[in-house]
Amino acid sequence: MILSWFRQNQRDFGIARASWLFWRVAWRRARVVTSNRLLPARHECPCCGWTGRRFLDYIEMGYTASNTACPRCDSHSRHRALFLWLRDKYDLAQKKGTALILAPERALAPLWAGAPLLRSYKIDVEANRGVDVLADVTYLPFATNVADLIWCHHVLEQVEDDVAALKEFYRVLVPDSGELVISAGLNAQAVTREFGFSNRELSGNRRAYGADFAARLANAGFDVTAVSHDLSQEDYQKFGIVPEKFYRCRKTGAK
Ligand SMILES: [Zn+2]
Repeated sequence: MILSWFRQNQRDFGIARASWLFWRVAWRRARVVTSNRLLPARHECPCCGWTGRRFLDYIEMGYTASNTACPRCDSHSRHRALFLWLRDKYDLAQKKGTALILAPERALAPLWAGAPLLRSYKIDVEANRGVDVLADVTYLPFATNVADLIWCHHVLEQVEDDVAALKEFYRVLVPDSGELVISAGLNAQAVTREFGFSNRELSGNRRAYGADFAARLANAGFDVTAVSHDLSQEDYQKFGIVPEKFYRCRKTGAK
């Protein structure tokens, strides 16, 4: 796995930069592993129960996020936040109907498995992460008005035609009661910045959404509600969560 990761970086950035990245990751990882062995725990992962001094740093060529990835289940801040929301606020275990889970997150898998009345379809463009359906988000092989829940986090920024994807979500969602629960990589700017290409230094993203993300969802026809997490400061600290907005979208008044 490390070898294939290295080879991919070598293809994308050349041997010199790939080697630099490798040693940067190795050094920072060794430092975290050592402090987790020697120092008392400060953090806990709600997804898998891991406890330790620090989460691993997440490093790509274009950015570094310190104290981010769970050493056991690889959850990041947003996975841990969404895990707690799905379990405690959304009450996922009690939900019925059909859920389409796009680019399924490994850290959330136990939650979907623990909702016996929900028919969940894990969907991705690549055959990994235990997917059930291979599909592109701009063409979902599902009938109209069938999905009670569409779960889509940090996917849209990698999709070439994001307007087509939102149109497709709108089509398959059950009117009125169905919900699209969605988030994307946002930057601090007011307006979405299109890169015009898949940026390999930023996880292959094609754009950085701005504060107009909610308006883009509304333009696709959805009624949009922004959701903020409301954990205590102690829990944000303990679970290593940096709060990030996400959106619940409904299709009301559809003909
Ligand atoms: Zn974990």
